[in-house]
Formats: sequence, C-alpha cells, structure tokens
Amino acid sequence: MPTTKKGTSCCSTANLLHKPVWRFATLFGMRRLGRLAKRIYPKEYGGTLTHFETDQPVIALTIDDGLSRGGPETSMANDVLELLAKYDNAHATFFVCSDYVTNQEDSVIEKLLDEGHEVGNHMISDRLFYYNKLDKPEFQTQMRQANAVLDDLEEKHGKQNAKKTKKTRWFRAPQGLMSANMKQAMEEEGNMEHVLGDCYCDDWSFAQEADPLFAAELDGDADPKLQKYREKAMKQVSNLMLSQVKAGSIAIIHMPEKGFREGNLMALEFFLQGIQKRGLRCCNLTEMQQMSQLDEEEETKDNTSKDSGNNDTINEESTLSS
Ligand SMILES: [Zn+2]
Repeated sequence: MPTTKKGTSCCSTANLLHKPVWRFATLFGMRRLGRLAKRIYPKEYGGTLTHFETDQPVIALTIDDGLSRGGPETSMANDVLELLAKYDNAHATFFVCSDYVTNQEDSVIEKLLDEGHEVGNHMISDRLFYYNKLDKPEFQTQMRQANAVLDDLEEKHGKQNAKKTKKTRWFRAPQGLMSANMKQAMEEEGNMEHVLGDCYCDDWSFAQEADPLFAAELDGDADPKLQKYREKAMKQVSNLMLSQVKAGSIAIIHMPEKGFREGNLMALEFFLQGIQKRGLRCCNLTEMQQMSQLDEEEETKDNTSKDSGNNDTINEESTLSS
C-alpha cells in the first residue's frame, strides 16, 4: 500500500462535496456572483475588478500566494515559468506575499519580470481571517510594507519605477476577504485596484488531497493508481475553471510548491492546454487593462463618427428640405 499522510484518503467525503459546490457556482456564473457581491457589499467590494470587457480572445491569468513559503528549497517558480513559456508565452500576474518573495533567489525574480510577468500585492503573508479585522491605519502600514518590497524588486531588476510612474498596483485581498477599512486604505494610495476573478475553483483543497501522493512519489513509493487519482483531482480543477473561462476572464490559481499544493502545476498545465485549444491567450492584468482601454477608445471613436455621420445626414436632409 503506498504511503499517504495520516488523515487523508484517496476519496474523502470532503472531495465528494467539492464537485457539486463548484458546479453550482459555475452554473450560477462567477461574473454574476461577483456583481451580486458588489451590490450587497459595496463598502467592501464596490470597484473590485472581476473581469474585463473585451471581445478579443484573451484572458488574464493570476497566480496567488507566490512565490514560495519555504524559500528556494520548496520553490516551483522555475517550473511554473517554464510551463507558461511553453504555452504561447503565456503571461501572468503573480500575487505575491512579501515574505514569500524576499526569500527567493534573485535569478528567479529576474526571470519572472524579464519574461513579461508582473507582481501584485497579496500582503506580507497569507494569514487567514487576519487583514480584514485590522483597523485602517494598521492595515495601511502593512499594505505599504508589502508595496515597498514589490517596488524595490522592480527597481532592482530594472523595471519601471512603480513609485514614480504610479502604475496600477494590483491588489488581491488574502482569501478574497476585503473590509471597508482595507478598501479605503487601498483607494487612498491612488493607484491601487482590487482584483478578484470570474474563473476559479478551490484548487487548494483538491491539491491538498493530492499532495500526499507527491510525498509518496518523493519517497520512491509512487503507485500508478495514486498517480491516476492525482491526475483526476487536477483535471477536476482545470475542467471547472475551463467551464467558466471566456474572453476577458480573470483566472485564479494558487502557486504550487514542493509538498504543498504541488498538484497545481498539473492543474495549470491542463488549464493552459484547454484555453490554447479554444484559441484564448493568457496576458497579465496590466496588458489586459491596456487592451480594454484601447477597445473603449475604439468604441468611443466609432460612436463619435457614427454620431457625426448621423448629424451630417440630418444636416443634408434639412438643407434639402429648406
Ligand atoms: Zn492567498
């Protein structure tokens, strides 16, 4: 019998519940859920970005909890970067925690930024039910600490100076839990935007189920049956994401790490294969923002020229009738 960690099994009841819960969310529609949350909780979620309006075949890929809690030893950042490059040079926004990024080797950050990816603020660490309980000054202090780390990384690696250019500093609240204090503090910065998404499945729980299988493999105790189970779990994640994704979507997946959500690398590959088949391309959030601004400008131009065309017709008609 292959080794699995205590308390886990290949077909736990928790996993049986994931599928129907996420099927329901998918049926209702994540965009609709996002709109509903903004309407019910405007002080917390008003202004939160969940997708882009575009007809172009592009989506924004975002990867949470980067880059590695365990430092270089457990980091799978290079594997993720290689995978993204393999699929049409997909670009992503990595929502990093400042504690999980300062412990990385410089070469990894350099590669990440060089290859067209970007970093967003996911606070200092991914603490559960913590940031949404803070008062505004305390949250602001910690948010600025994380921002300063990201600004320094970008400056150090020769990227644009975020402090001077005031480019959008993307923010994702840990666990998506935003409070009114957090929203106010973020808005006071003038260049920050909160981003959730419309394409997500709780990959962490599926991956946690599959993680012991990786441990077994590392122990040299891999079993084809377990390998199949792992693939099945990660297929569930990617299939649920693929059932939600459409042009303009913001997809969310968690960063895989050795021994922790490691299976997410496989889920990400299945997802990238799926969107490639549909002719969709992955961009980072800044690229998507620029594209949707261009789309808007084009639309305004079209409407203006249509309006002036109508006015010309009206003028012609009035000249003829006079
Ligand atoms: Zn997180």
